[in-house]
Amino acid sequence: TAALLARAEAHAELGAFLHLDRDSALAAALAADAARAAGPVGPLCGVPIAHKDIFVTADMPTTAGSKMLAGYRSPFDATVVARLKAAGTVSLGKLNCDEFAMGSANENSAFQPVKNPWDTTRVPGGSSGGSAAAVAARLIPAATGTDTGGSIRQPASFSGLTGIKPTYGVCSRYGMIAFASSLDQAGPMARSAEDCALLLSAMAGFDERDSTSAERPAPDYLALMNTPRAEATASQPLKGLRIGLPAEFFPAALAADVNGAVRAALAQLEQLGATLVDVSLPRTELSIPVYYIIAPAEASSNLSRFDGVKFGHRAAQYDDLLDMYRKTRAEGFGPEVKRRIMIGTYVLSHGYYDAYYLQAQKLRRMIADDFQRCFTQCDVIAGPVAPTVAWHIGEQGGDPLQAYLADIFTLPASLAGLPGMSVPAGFGAGGMPVGLQLIGNYFQEGTLLHAAHALQ
Ligand code: GLN
Repeated sequence: TAALLARAEAHAELGAFLHLDRDSALAAALAADAARAAGPVGPLCGVPIAHKDIFVTADMPTTAGSKMLAGYRSPFDATVVARLKAAGTVSLGKLNCDEFAMGSANENSAFQPVKNPWDTTRVPGGSSGGSAAAVAARLIPAATGTDTGGSIRQPASFSGLTGIKPTYGVCSRYGMIAFASSLDQAGPMARSAEDCALLLSAMAGFDERDSTSAERPAPDYLALMNTPRAEATASQPLKGLRIGLPAEFFPAALAADVNGAVRAALAQLEQLGATLVDVSLPRTELSIPVYYIIAPAEASSNLSRFDGVKFGHRAAQYDDLLDMYRKTRAEGFGPEVKRRIMIGTYVLSHGYYDAYYLQAQKLRRMIADDFQRCFTQCDVIAGPVAPTVAWHIGEQGGDPLQAYLADIFTLPASLAGLPGMSVPAGFGAGGMPVGLQLIGNYFQEGTLLHAAHALQ
């Protein structure tokens, strides 16, 4: 812990940490040492990690990457934080992210952009960009992230890591600052499927404080990952695994370097015994407008709680209550958050609700049904995580649409609530990492981890 704290301080220029807590980390490390001396401990005892700053923490500030939460201190820990603490992990601090997890490059943090350790002129991906950069730079072996439309998988892909977004409902959302409640999921980002399995086992499981939490106990994901498949042989551990390749995930416009790395990883999976089958997710393209209606709609509702009354930022001068709300929100929220609140309010407003929000909800159901049709033909769906490698900081020139379009391969699984994983596939342009995405049916995290582990 002491060594990693020093390393994190030495690499402050990456912008990965928003808050580094030396004293409480060292105290937690000593407590872990004492626990280990006193008797048998779990595999995560004493393991240094850090949390995306979207999880509330009682002993550290929480900002959600926003000025709106200036001075905020939560009276409680998020369930995921509390569970990882109970498992003995040592939290070094809080990790930078896009403001309220809205973004794909960590360029929307109100504090500072995060640099990709593979090439510091490039973005680490987002919105869990601080988590990705910290693990990729070996400041910590693992981190928590959240994924609403790709924010674990895409930064994992851009930063050469393994990350898993479990089935919606597997990890409690209690204490996770809400962006789009029907989509938000927590998950681990680490260097391997094995490390992800260890973390996810500690994070997952029913929580009565989250009404959308799945009523099932946390499985032992490490055991599931290591369980041999029925048809497995020594040289073909994935024998019998059918991997579906949706034609829509391999469009002609897909960058050649990404295509090459993903195809190479698929060939490796084939060598390990898996069979590749062609499938179709015909509404893949529609997932972009569907997501960018539903997510802002939910965000506009969730973010109405930030009014300057009880916590966080409040404008210094105002005339009356309404003026206080207006000035507080105008000062506290960044441009991307304001854009989403405006879009969300618009699509939910009288006269537009049926035309936008309701249509999007119907299409969301159809997208989920498309996946179920695929899963009659295959066990796992595979494709790229993102259409390109990490782009350069500032390259998109602030055009939000470019970032939205780049979410095309991660949004479908999010809308369907399915588990998705990013596994390092190889390298593309500029020597930058490329991730392979694996999508499973509901609660099939074990299958994803097993396949990813075989590849690693
Ligand atoms: N890039 C997507 C967005 O900006 C997804 C973000 C996320 O998963 N939190 O909304």
